[in-house]
Amino acid sequence: MKYLIFTYGCQMNYSDTERMQTYLEALGFKQAKAEKDADMIIFNTCSIRQKGEQRVIGKMIDMIKLRKKNKNLIVVITGCMVRKSSSRYSETRDKLFNRTKEIDIALRIEELPKLADLIKELNPKIKLPKIEEETLEDYFNITPNYTSKSQAFIPISTGCDKFCTYCIVPFSRGREKSRPMADILEECEEFVKQGGLEITLLGQTVDSYGLSTFDKQEGTFKHLPKGKTPFVSLLEQIDKLYSKGLRRLRFTSSHPKDISDDLIKAIGKLKTLMPYIHLPVQAGHNDTLKRMNRPYTCEKFLTIIKKLRKTVPGIAISTDFIVGFSGETEEEFQATYDLFKKEEFDFAYFAQYSERKGTFASKNLKDDVPKKVKRERWHLINELLKTIVAKKLEKFVGKTLDVLVEFEEKGLLHGHSEHSKEVQFKGKKSLIGQIVTVKILKADKWVLEGEKI
Ligand code: SF4
Repeated sequence: MKYLIFTYGCQMNYSDTERMQTYLEALGFKQAKAEKDADMIIFNTCSIRQKGEQRVIGKMIDMIKLRKKNKNLIVVITGCMVRKSSSRYSETRDKLFNRTKEIDIALRIEELPKLADLIKELNPKIKLPKIEEETLEDYFNITPNYTSKSQAFIPISTGCDKFCTYCIVPFSRGREKSRPMADILEECEEFVKQGGLEITLLGQTVDSYGLSTFDKQEGTFKHLPKGKTPFVSLLEQIDKLYSKGLRRLRFTSSHPKDISDDLIKAIGKLKTLMPYIHLPVQAGHNDTLKRMNRPYTCEKFLTIIKKLRKTVPGIAISTDFIVGFSGETEEEFQATYDLFKKEEFDFAYFAQYSERKGTFASKNLKDDVPKKVKRERWHLINELLKTIVAKKLEKFVGKTLDVLVEFEEKGLLHGHSEHSKEVQFKGKKSLIGQIVTVKILKADKWVLEGEKI
């Protein structure tokens, strides 16, 4: 049988897809090249924005057409849209089954090892091999089928305990749970042994690694030395892999509440930690932050930024903003705009607020900023972003940067510098997967252009 996976959303979903591939291949599935060849089509979904969900539901029209040719086609939805692992014949089913008739299986990604049973429940005639390996019984321990040989995205925690009022993640991914440090280290070590150069640690809020209610109840991190956060202990352990060939360590996303002084020091000190951090602020006014249930003030956020810039001169900082959140006044938006203008973040991901069903905001806060106003505010921030990004990139012209080459497109090699700037240059495809030195000749809109030296 053949499978095809469509992945949407963040890096966490792409990492989950790599784990899913390993699991499916252990069940005897092979990857299909096109939808028409697949016996099972999986949608690994994102719910952060309404558009993301609509895209997946829209794809169901294609499933109707495909089913006309292949009656036994299995359609699976996993990722953030799913609350309950179930098949169309389960006694209690996920609510997604009410939204479209085309789904056969809804799967919570953390319950990936249940997929085989759900397939059997759906169609007992399908014979699947019994999985013997213990590593395939636990989502975290499934060794992923890495897409790249040089870069790996490794999850260190799942779920979230923060409950920002607009966000669906604590409901879709559940409460925050950290993965045992020994397992993460083993995966990192194995990857580096195979020639891996760059590791990005993933989690909804990586800097609270080992600190969640669940982690405390389990006592998993009790043995760690006092005065150091579990996250920094983890980073220090991974950093030791420098001697085995690891060159770059990154993490995403962090939460301002959990950024500790020892983490800031570690970014300035550890050999492999890159001078880049993604730190979502979401809004530049304390009233908006309060309605969002973001547990920090703008002043606290700015103190962190100041410390980061002092400890790691030249550090690149990106952030997230939401524009047009419930109750956002002109004054509040202006404060967000001013914060972005003053702090000149290297990049910002920003979205117009859209209500997510089931969140606190959808039940208790009116989505009262008119669409037109949201759009205008979005455009204003976007124009500012373009100016700031151009200014930031210009500073690299004439400099030489180490670039990890990731892919080739239209005759140009693309990769990222230590500060996570995208760089493109002419070169042989054989350089993919290597770190090369590039002299920057020009800053284009969002990308640096250079030549290999
Ligand atoms: S920190 Fe807030 S925005 Fe981020 S995943 Fe958790 S609830 Fe969502």
